[in-house]
Amino acid sequence: MIRKKVSGRPVRHRSNNHVPVTIELHLRNVTENVLERKWARDPQRWHDRYSLRPSVALPNVCAQHGRPSVTTCARPIEFQGDGYEQSTPTRVATDLVRAIATKQRGETGTRALLWADWPVCIRCRLRSRVQRGVAILIMLAVLADITRRIIDYSGGTTDVVAFIGFLIVISSPFVLLASLLLKAADTFVRCTNLAVPHQATIVAHPRFEAGFDR
Ligand SMILES: [Zn+2]
Repeated sequence: MIRKKVSGRPVRHRSNNHVPVTIELHLRNVTENVLERKWARDPQRWHDRYSLRPSVALPNVCAQHGRPSVTTCARPIEFQGDGYEQSTPTRVATDLVRAIATKQRGETGTRALLWADWPVCIRCRLRSRVQRGVAILIMLAVLADITRRIIDYSGGTTDVVAFIGFLIVISSPFVLLASLLLKAADTFVRCTNLAVPHQATIVAHPRFEAGFDR
């Protein structure tokens, strides 16, 4: 069976009754990006790293809204930690706060990539564009301010402590915010469980699940 519903009970997710949908996966044999090439170079060390893709084509329905897709996003979902949890903006921010509070760095490396042409509806495309646009504006503002401070510093009107302090203390949160927004802009699916290397369970609109039967 290529796809099955894990539970008949709907899962409350935002305003819709979303359901868990388990998708069968298979290993990819190509090494397209930096991480995959690193894993392929040393398979013994990186034996628990996986590059995966669904065994069947996804329906042309947005998983979040159940609307017809107007485009697709080919960026992979990243998973991290011992439980192969989806690397969401919330997870990244939570890990960072925890690492700062405890001064201990957890397992943050990417342990699996799930590649697919994720269906994107018109609402998701608009949301993604807004998030990407805000992130770019933030980065441009930070770059403009850094440039101004470099000019001030080279002109002797700013001391080195204030310059370095700005780079670390003031600009870092904005750069982090921009990177989280970019991550959110590329996130179109919420994956609740990855049973490597065979199955992924995503929380999806019932019309997404019904799309497999057409
Ligand atoms: Zn959508």
